[in-house]
This record gives sequence, structure tokens and C-alpha cells, in this order.
Amino acid sequence: MPAQRGPLRPGAIRESLHFTTMASLKEYRRKRHFEETPEPAGKTARGKGRSFVIQKHAATRLHYDFRIEMDGVLKSWAVPKGPSLNPADKRLAVQVEDHPLDYGGFEGVIPEGSYGAGEVIVWDRGTYDVEGNLPERQQLERGELKLVLHGQKLRGSFVLVKLKRSEKGNEWLLIKHRDLAADPRWKIEEHDGSVASGRTLEDVAEGRPASQPAAIATPAKLEGAKKAAMPARIEPALATLVETPFSDSDWLFEIKWDGVRALAFVKNGKLELRSRT
Ligand code: MN
Repeated sequence: MPAQRGPLRPGAIRESLHFTTMASLKEYRRKRHFEETPEPAGKTARGKGRSFVIQKHAATRLHYDFRIEMDGVLKSWAVPKGPSLNPADKRLAVQVEDHPLDYGGFEGVIPEGSYGAGEVIVWDRGTYDVEGNLPERQQLERGELKLVLHGQKLRGSFVLVKLKRSEKGNEWLLIKHRDLAADPRWKIEEHDGSVASGRTLEDVAEGRPASQPAAIATPAKLEGAKKAAMPARIEPALATLVETPFSDSDWLFEIKWDGVRALAFVKNGKLELRSRT
């Protein structure tokens, strides 16, 4: 690939060539011994997928690895403080070597003595869209990448901006844009745990298994269940009047439709619907 218009500073051509080599997994594989670590050796994939994953990694220093799928690999940044939904937070993100796509599903323990030794969980994952007129690769090479994340924890518009004065040339900032998903009260500690298994880093360290998805409940088998007569009346949740509207990421909002509620009772296999205004 010829040198393109890269970051607007000296060394731009060298930088572009650097990116070309970065789009392979050579550096990733050079650092690891796959007979010792459970991490995937990975293959470079073809495709136009747009997934992203954030792994929480208890290495020598705790950090979050922010990875986005691009050109068949995961472009990766280590974010010491982790991402934030608060637009006032500008989080340092240090670009590291590309990782293979299947790394995104990795959760486990990198053994002592191996590169990056420590526990890893899949802290968030989902898909992304690119904002702006330039394709993602060009935005990356220019040092300003605008993304909309559709994750389980992170949502909405973000920007990754390369620090032009960064000595090592690998320091970026990850910043949330102001939008409906922004949350000035965001605290990363309140959003811990793996979206893949429900585990924390401690759970992984202690070898606890992934929490099982809730099976369809058989009421009689639920702990503490008592046999009782069929209730004749149930109070459904009703909308509550408040003075002012508010936004809170812990809440889901829905339109209050006026009308008649149907309450469903299943008794001895027979369904009965009752109305409740
Ligand atoms: Mn890491």
C-alpha cells in the first residue's frame, strides 16, 4: 500500500508503513508462546465485519483492552482507566499490536511468565458504525476515528483522537460524545463483570465457572416456593407521575399507552384473560 496522507506531522510516511505492517498478526504472535498460553494463535480473517470488544485485563497493571474489528483483525488499544460514558472524561488509550478476531472471545488466565500474565474477562462487546464521511481505515490513519458503539454497556458516539505530541506515536484519547447515551454520573466500578459469563476477574482467578443462563422456571421448583390458591386479583405496575423528566442509564423508559390491561391467568392448563383499566 503506498504511503497515504497520514497524521499531519513529520514521519507521516514511516507511520503509514508502520500501519501496513500492523495489519498483520506478526507482532501478536512474536510476543506469545502458544504452547504456554490459552490465548488463540488466531488467523487473519477476510471480511467487513464491524464488531468491537473490551476486555478487562488484570496484567501487571489493570487495564481495559478496547478492540475494534478492521480489515480482518482487531485494532487494539490499552485503556488504563477504562472507557467512560461521561463526556468530561478523556481516557488515555495506548495503541498496541493488532489481535486476531477470535481473541475477542477470550476469557481466562494467561499464565505467569507469559506475556500479559493475568486474568481476562470480556467486559463488553457488540458492533460499531463509523461516523463521518471517511472510511474507518482512513480515519485511523489520520488519527481521528469516530465510532458509534452498540454494546451491552457502552452505547452511542465516541471518538478516538491520536495525540500529535505523543513521543512514542501510540497514545490516543478515547472520549464520549454528548448524546442520549452519555452519562455524567458514569462510574466504571458500577458496571463490572463479564458480558459473556457474568464473572468478575476474581471469579476467573479462582476458577469459578460461568453462571448458567436462567432456565425456564418451573414455579414449584423455585427455592422457597409455597403452594397457594390462585390469586383472584393482581395489581399491575402502573405509570407514576413525576414533576420533571429525567434520564438515567439504569432505567428503561416506555411510552404510557392509555387503555385496558389484560392480565393472564393460567390455571390447570387453562388460560383466562381479565381486563384491568
Ligand atoms: Mn491487555
